[in-house]
Amino acid sequence: MPPRPDLGPNPPLGYTQSRLERAAERRNDEAAMAAFAADPNARCYVIGGELIVMKKASSLSDPLFSLDQARALDGAAETVFLGLADGAARFGVGIGKTAAEELKSRDGFHVTDLRAIAVQGLTAAEHLPPIAEAKALLNWHARHRFCPNCGAATLVTCSGWRRDCPQCRAQHFPRTDPVVIMLAYDGERCLLGRSPRFMPNMWSCLAGFVEPGESFEDAVRRETREEAGITCGHVAYFASQPWPFPTSLMIGCHAQALTHDITVDHAELEGARWFSKDEVISMLLRRHPQGLVTPPPMAIAYHIVRAWVEGEVA
Ligand SMILES: [Zn+2]
Repeated sequence: MPPRPDLGPNPPLGYTQSRLERAAERRNDEAAMAAFAADPNARCYVIGGELIVMKKASSLSDPLFSLDQARALDGAAETVFLGLADGAARFGVGIGKTAAEELKSRDGFHVTDLRAIAVQGLTAAEHLPPIAEAKALLNWHARHRFCPNCGAATLVTCSGWRRDCPQCRAQHFPRTDPVVIMLAYDGERCLLGRSPRFMPNMWSCLAGFVEPGESFEDAVRRETREEAGITCGHVAYFASQPWPFPTSLMIGCHAQALTHDITVDHAELEGARWFSKDEVISMLLRRHPQGLVTPPPMAIAYHIVRAWVEGEVA
């Protein structure tokens, strides 16, 4: 048997390894926040719903604005504190979706969605984690204006990391929604599926939300059984990835398949089938004869599949 092709250096996983120091202990310190905001080195990321606003530059677009520049884009802008970069504050500024749409046609701006930025490498990789942080946090604010306990309008506190209810005194914290994403394998084959939302020819790991009262391992087994009719045994954690669409955390796992006959849940998937290791390698390398591909290297699915191919599965 010929040796398997080398997949090359392992590319970075998108939205991870943030260089920001979150400085959570400063969030309630109003004097410190005022000083951070007044620092001439303070910068912010500007987000309008799904759109990220950047400045056009000669090569990569620049997503950092001064606070004054950002607030001039939309009078109703909302600000959250993200952390410190070499001692200088980084904020997230949320502007209206309409204001962001309008900037698309303004000279000097590059306005697009975060998936495009990450997949196409439209800005320096170091900006992806703080943009993901800002996008998820601002999205939470946009969807949690009212107290789920009593219905009163809530107030932003802790520099954007909490909302307090003035009526019933409940405190509300930003939410993160755990999603398991897993590769079921059986010796030299693995199970990939296709969602109707995927671009044509892309096959990926199965995935689904973790439900209340469920462990990650149980969620992996349940989702694989529900979506593809495959029963899994041993589940091993691999890695995680923030997925700010809008506020998910992907929990990557490998799962040993105990059964082989696939029954596709067509409400969730367009298809699911077994792939050989060689076929998956050709997909990772973008050399598949029918043009089938895995997700791009910035996504955790690529890394989950690749780790299995490279024999790094517990
Ligand atoms: Zn309340």
